[in-house]
Amino acid sequence: MDYVIGVDLDNTIVSYDALIHKVALEMGLVSEGIKKVKRHIRDAVRQVHGDEKWQEVQAVIYGQRMGEAELIDGVERFFRLCKDNRVKVFIISHKTEFSNYFGGGSNFRKAALDWMERNNFFKEGGLAVSRADVHFESTREGKLQRIRQLGCTHFIDDLEETFCDRLFPEWVEKILYDPYGGQGHLDGVKVFRSWDGINGHLFRSGR
Ligand SMILES: [Mg+2]
Repeated sequence: MDYVIGVDLDNTIVSYDALIHKVALEMGLVSEGIKKVKRHIRDAVRQVHGDEKWQEVQAVIYGQRMGEAELIDGVERFFRLCKDNRVKVFIISHKTEFSNYFGGGSNFRKAALDWMERNNFFKEGGLAVSRADVHFESTREGKLQRIRQLGCTHFIDDLEETFCDRLFPEWVEKILYDPYGGQGHLDGVKVFRSWDGINGHLFRSGR
């Protein structure tokens, strides 16, 4: 297959839902009953404690606690299918190296690479990703330029905003991973609730 597939990292490959819930509870920002869904917790924290507190939660989950984040179901199968079908795949993430808000914190890119390492991304018998094919960009603009520069034919992201941007190359197939639904449906965006759905679409393969 002559596909070149780009994949976003945070909330597309990595799930922070359970971790955000845990950290926000530990910090005393939400009550136990809140749904373990990032969007709900973000809204609740912002509403009651303000955006700065939310930034602090994010600095914790993308930094020192990232090790506790989870690999989303179906992602491993996706990378195997790419390997079996000789599809080139890149991970392209908008991620600054350090928090813009909290000095002296952890290095987010290193935390992400460590997480990938622990989840067997770089093992031949694991997800078989090359480290050189993981790209971190400091801005969304940089991410969109990278998608273009690497010649992606498809891009998978959890945020519709990525596809709305005028810099998003128009010839690239837009695949939205939207596990909870609810994002407005843009023209030309293929929406999937699960990676099984994405794998089926790209590789005509069920489970
Ligand atoms: Mg994302």
